[in-house]
Amino acid sequence: MKDLTILVPLFNEEESIDLFLNATGPVLEGLNLSYKYLFVDDGSTDGTLKILKARAKDNPAINYISLSRNFGKEAALLCGIKKSDTKAIIPMDIDLQDPPDLIPAFVEKWKEGYNMVLGVRKNRDSDSPAKKFLSTWFYKVHNFFARRPIPENTGDFRLLDQNVAQAIKQINESTLFMKGLFNWAGFKTASVGYVRPNRAAGGTKWSYWKLWNFALDGIFNASTIPLRLWTYFGALTAGLSFLYAAFIILKVLIFGKDIPGYASLAVLILFFGGVQLMSIGILGEYVGRIFSEVKHRPTYIIKEEKLND
Ligand code: UDP
Ligand code: MG
Repeated sequence: MKDLTILVPLFNEEESIDLFLNATGPVLEGLNLSYKYLFVDDGSTDGTLKILKARAKDNPAINYISLSRNFGKEAALLCGIKKSDTKAIIPMDIDLQDPPDLIPAFVEKWKEGYNMVLGVRKNRDSDSPAKKFLSTWFYKVHNFFARRPIPENTGDFRLLDQNVAQAIKQINESTLFMKGLFNWAGFKTASVGYVRPNRAAGGTKWSYWKLWNFALDGIFNASTIPLRLWTYFGALTAGLSFLYAAFIILKVLIFGKDIPGYASLAVLILFFGGVQLMSIGILGEYVGRIFSEVKHRPTYIIKEEKLND
């Protein structure tokens, strides 16, 4: 069994593959460990797979899997973890935003006995102000609801040992949020700080809309508390309306009949209409996820693969 898999999901990244191999190669050679690359081509439509095949011919350390279409980074990562058979796995982005220089630090912590070593971003300077703002709020909301809060400013860049990998291999969910799942696995965890550089080549594969939906997946996968909130809110409004009814009855008894006020009525109807739609929406988020889980469709489909020992 080899020591280390460098697991790289990639989608339309033809210009980054050689940059990545050149940057990681010397670091991996210097480790004194046996290692392999596992590239998971997430349904690229450019020359990504062709380049992978060419590089794999020259270099036996290069393994690849190609998915039948774009299933998303989370599915590609899960596929790679299920297929790897080494003592440790380090998932990395191909764009060198996960600095290869950190690998020796991860390995050192692993040798000290940690099961998972997180790469924690020291700052978010390479993100746009909007992305910074949104990610801060994402962690706030997620960790407010989640049973197990996720450490802020971490991504998928980390080292997993066999215990963590074994836990992840058992997962068969179709709505995936890998960061949450790694965290769910538990085990002894250390962290190493780093500064995230800008992309080496190409552009981001994430639009704000994709990120927003991803954030919702993260939150709704982490907890059912958003469902329960409506119970409390319902109890609160029921209690308040009881008090209000008592107040009206007393007022009529003391001062006699009042002029009807429809402004306040209209506001109340609109408010509770909105509240009900929102709570139905939240229910829908869960029902939708139940629907996609009960179908039990495979999370990804492999088109072809080349896996060496
Ligand atoms: N990626 C993928 N499938 C996708 C989108 C992205 O495998 O549907 C890969 C991408 O090729 C890269 C990594 O996931 O290796 C991170 O993507 P990106 O750099 O676009 O994300 P960002 O760093 O902007 O968050
Ligand atoms: Mg990137």
